[in-house]
Amino acid sequence: MTLTEWRKAIEGAMIQVGFSQTSQEAKWLLGAAINREGAFITLNPSYTPTPLEEKTIQDWLARRLKGEPLSRIKGMREFWSLPFQLNEHTLDPRPESELIIEAVLKWIGPCSKEPWRLLDLGTGSGCLLISLLHELKNASGMGVDIEEKALSMAQKNAELNGVLPRAHFQISNWGEGIREKFDIIVSNPPYIPLQEKETLEKAVLAYDPAQALFGGENGLDCYALLAKTIPHLLAPKGLVVLEIGMGQSASVTSLFQERGFQRLFVLKDLQGIERTLAFEMNPTS
Ligand code: GLN
Repeated sequence: MTLTEWRKAIEGAMIQVGFSQTSQEAKWLLGAAINREGAFITLNPSYTPTPLEEKTIQDWLARRLKGEPLSRIKGMREFWSLPFQLNEHTLDPRPESELIIEAVLKWIGPCSKEPWRLLDLGTGSGCLLISLLHELKNASGMGVDIEEKALSMAQKNAELNGVLPRAHFQISNWGEGIREKFDIIVSNPPYIPLQEKETLEKAVLAYDPAQALFGGENGLDCYALLAKTIPHLLAPKGLVVLEIGMGQSASVTSLFQERGFQRLFVLKDLQGIERTLAFEMNPTS
């Protein structure tokens, strides 16, 4: 079968199980399965995949039709235009989390050459720390996580993206046991309220680790903890950037204000939802 025939067959199968955007999805799946860019699929309609490639296409299509996200099937996700490997202990990085990188760069402005010290709390795949180290060539940083198998993935990702010499990964529960101070602290903690578990997309529940998703009954448990521990980890005049869930902006802001922080700015995602909060320590506290 040629690529055009495969595309039609895949689209047909996807339509049958109720997928939307089947043309785009079919192209992504084919490209990923034969390990080529999407443009190759468009430009080589009469290419006939090898028997080995055909087997991968069939296997991956069967998994995709059952609802597994393509990033999980590939074990790979692009974030901040960099490749990240995933395993079952790491959250699949979401595009809106790139706002954390944008927020840090906005605050840093022209000072990108400084030897910034970065800390990523709950690093998972390492996507936040590694993207920042990739941008800030003289920075170094630490990624912590409670899950050892996420940390080994983060370590591999640091190597894959050429920042391993400037990255250090350590097991810790939200910074417990760490004595250093950092100029910039970022975190995308689990923030989904447990009560929303039933309404969550099936694929998220099935393929993202629950530990990386749920933040207690109202979703705010980790923020309360972070507001308490970050003051001990932040260097004077340091920056804190956090991702938050829908509708959590006011509550998270108060949790941090109560601990002596002031809010610097808020970034909204493409849907207009307040998604990223930036804080610094109040100079008078
Ligand atoms: N820091 C990682 C990310 O943003 C993991 C976050 C998490 O597991 N909640 O993707």
